[in-house]
Amino acid sequence: MTISMDETYPVARPSLSELEERYVLDALRSGWVSSQGPYLRDFEERFARRCATDVALATSNGTVALHLVLAAAGIGPGDEVIVPALTYVATANAVAYCGARAVCVDVSAQTWCVDPEAVRAAIGPRTRAVIAVDLYGHPADYPALRQLCRQHGLLLVADAAESFGATLDDRPTGSLADATTFSFFGNKVITSGEGGCVTTCDTALADRMRLLRNQGMDPQRRYHFPVLGYNYRLTNLGAALLCAQLDRADDIIARRRRVIARYEQELADEALLTPQPVAAGVRRAPWMASFLVGPEGDEFLRDALARALDRVGVETRPFFVPVSELPAHHDPAAVVPVARDLSRRGINLPTYADLDDPGVKTVVERLRGVLATVSRAAP
Ligand SMILES: *Cc1c(COP(=O)(O)O)cnc(C)c1O
Repeated sequence: MTISMDETYPVARPSLSELEERYVLDALRSGWVSSQGPYLRDFEERFARRCATDVALATSNGTVALHLVLAAAGIGPGDEVIVPALTYVATANAVAYCGARAVCVDVSAQTWCVDPEAVRAAIGPRTRAVIAVDLYGHPADYPALRQLCRQHGLLLVADAAESFGATLDDRPTGSLADATTFSFFGNKVITSGEGGCVTTCDTALADRMRLLRNQGMDPQRRYHFPVLGYNYRLTNLGAALLCAQLDRADDIIARRRRVIARYEQELADEALLTPQPVAAGVRRAPWMASFLVGPEGDEFLRDALARALDRVGVETRPFFVPVSELPAHHDPAAVVPVARDLSRRGINLPTYADLDDPGVKTVVERLRGVLATVSRAAP
C-alpha cells in the first residue's frame, strides 16, 4: 500500500469561524478586555441554562475551577478526597493545592470512570469529597455516586472537563453532581484557548466561589478582603470566544460525533481494537475517539502503533498515566489494575469538527496498514 503523506492529522484542533472572530473583535473594540463585560455575563447565563443548572461561574481554566470548588467547600489539610486513578493530573493537583490528600481508586472496565464500589471501600473518617471524572466524554455513574455521597455526607464534584455536551438519562453534565467543573482548553469540545467554568445549584457554595474567584474581595466593600482568595477570573475576550462556541455548539458536537461514529463503524471488524464502552442511558460527549489496543494485559502494541502512526502523519495520544504512579501523587498502596491496563492500552485518534469523512477514511487506512505490521512484529 502506498501512503500519501500530503496530509497529516493532528490529534485535536479547535473549530473557529468568522463568528468567533466577530465576537472577539467586538469585545476588543469595546475596551472590555479584562474580567468584566457583557460577554462574560452572557456566557455564564447561557452556559447555566444549557447545563440545566442555576449558576455558572467562568474561571481562568479547568484546573482552578476544581480548586475553587474544593476551596469554597472548605477542604483543607488532613482531609481526603477520593479521585479515580485514571484521569488528567489536574483532578488530583486541585486536591493537593488545598493541602488535602487525593486518594486514588480504580475505575470500572464498563465505563472507564470511577468505580462506585471502589469509592465505597475507600471512604474513611477523613473523607470529605469525591471527584468523579467523565473520562473521554463518558459521564460517570452519578446515580450510584450521589446515593453514596448522600449516605456519607460527602460533597460530590464532577470533573466534566471532557464531557461538555454529554447526557445521562437525558440530563446534561453540569447538572449531575453538587458542583461540576469544565475546561475550555484548546483541545476540548468547545474552547476559549484557556478557560473553565463551575456549575452548581448550591447558592451558598456559588457565593463563596464568587468571593474566592475575585481575590476574596467583599462584594459590598471594594478593597476589603475578609478572606484569602485567588484571581481565578476569565476575561471578557475569552468569554466572547465562548459565546461564539456556544452559538455553534450543536453543530460542533454533531460533527465531532460523526467523526467518532465513523471510526467506530470503519474499525468495527478490527479485532485488535476495542472502542470505548457506553453505559445504558449515556450519550457521550464527542471529545476524543478512544480505543483499546490489543488483548487485556498487552503492554507493547499501543506504543508500537502510536510510533508507526506518527511516522505516517497521524498524531495520536496515549491514555493518561494513573495518577497514583505520578511522582506528585505517588501511592504504592493504590490497587488500580483496571486503570493500569486501560492506561497501557488506550489510544486517542484525531478528533475535531473539521475532520471530514475522507479524512477519517485516510486515518483508518493508515491505521489498518500499520496495525498489520506492528502486530506481526509483536514479541
Ligand atoms: C482538561 C482537563 C482538566 C483541566 O484542564 P485545564 O487545562 O486546566 O483547563 C481537568 N480535568 C480533566 C479530566 C481534563 O481533561
